[in-house]
Order: sequence, then structure tokens, then C-alpha cells
Amino acid sequence: MFIELAEYLKCPVDHEDAFLVLATGAMKGRAIRYGTLGCPVCRGEYLVVQQTVRFGPRPDVPSPARPLPPVDHVHALIGLESPGGYVALVGSAALLAPDLAGLIRGVHFICVNPPAEVTPSITRSLVESTATIPMRGSTTRGVVLGEEYATASWLAEGARVLLRGQRVVVCHEDLAPPDGLAAMSSGQGMWVGRKD
Ligand SMILES: [Zn+2]
Repeated sequence: MFIELAEYLKCPVDHEDAFLVLATGAMKGRAIRYGTLGCPVCRGEYLVVQQTVRFGPRPDVPSPARPLPPVDHVHALIGLESPGGYVALVGSAALLAPDLAGLIRGVHFICVNPPAEVTPSITRSLVESTATIPMRGSTTRGVVLGEEYATASWLAEGARVLLRGQRVVVCHEDLAPPDGLAAMSSGQGMWVGRKD
């Protein structure tokens, strides 16, 4: 992961937002190769191993039943035209990161619990987390949830981390939106909501 990302990350403990700091570690350029990120509020420490931040063990989720939607559909629905900022891709949706990076310039992708074939790069960072999208509230320009993460609790996490007016795309059609997300559309295996 890149050092600039630390100030957007949030530890998984339920307390006020505070950016994380690199307690110990080894850098390669701007990338943290391994080390420890510390939370100044709860004193929690999180290992960075193989450029992946480990906030907690991956949850036990089923394998996705359907293939991912086409990347150009996801790109159209997430509605990002301008460059910059962060987009969270959860579970199998992280497989979209290389192609989305070619379509949305200058965005950095946070891959949460990505499949093993997703590797870190200059356009993406990898994190493992049991139940949260480990970003501070209202920091993220877009969220894509893989089908296997189409649950109320992960949708609520999407609503928490999104900037107002920005969208979450879920690779699953039948969803009840949580508080704070307004349904925009559903169809073709996807559901889209906007943060109010
Ligand atoms: Zn903490």
C-alpha cells in the first residue's frame, strides 16, 4: 500500500475516525512493503505483509455464483468522470481494478479481501478486513461490492465511507438500501445506490 493512503484508512474498532500512522516498517519508494500501522485512538496495531494491510481475517463468504458484470457497465454506473481520489472494490469486484484503472484515470483502488490473483500495483492497494471497509467516513468516491458481499452490513459500510452524492455499485440485483443510500437503478445483475 502507498504511504499517502494511511491518512484515509480507519481501524476496524468502532470509535471516532482517526488516520493511521506507520509505526515501523520498510518502504520501497512510496510503498509500504511491510511494517505496522498504528491507530492513535485505540492503540491497535495492524501488520502490513506483502504490501497488504491486515485489519483482520477475511470473513467466510460464499463464492460468487455469477460472473462479474462487464467492466464498462460498472464504469458507466459508478459515474466517475474526473480523476483522483479513492474507490473501494470489495471481494471479487477487485478483479475489475486493472481495467477500471484504464477507464478512470488517476483514481487509486482499495481492494478489500481481493482474490489471490489481484496483486498490488501503483494504481491499487490491498487490505484484508473481517467486517469493515477500512476507510474513514466520507472519504471514498465510489464503492463496488462483489456479489458475495451483497449484504446489509457491507452495504452500510459502503454508505459510511462514501462521499455525499457518490455511488455504490453492487454485483447483485435484489437489495434493500440501508439508511443513507438512495436506490438509483437495478438490473443486469447490478444494483446502484447514491449517498444522500
Ligand atoms: Zn482504533
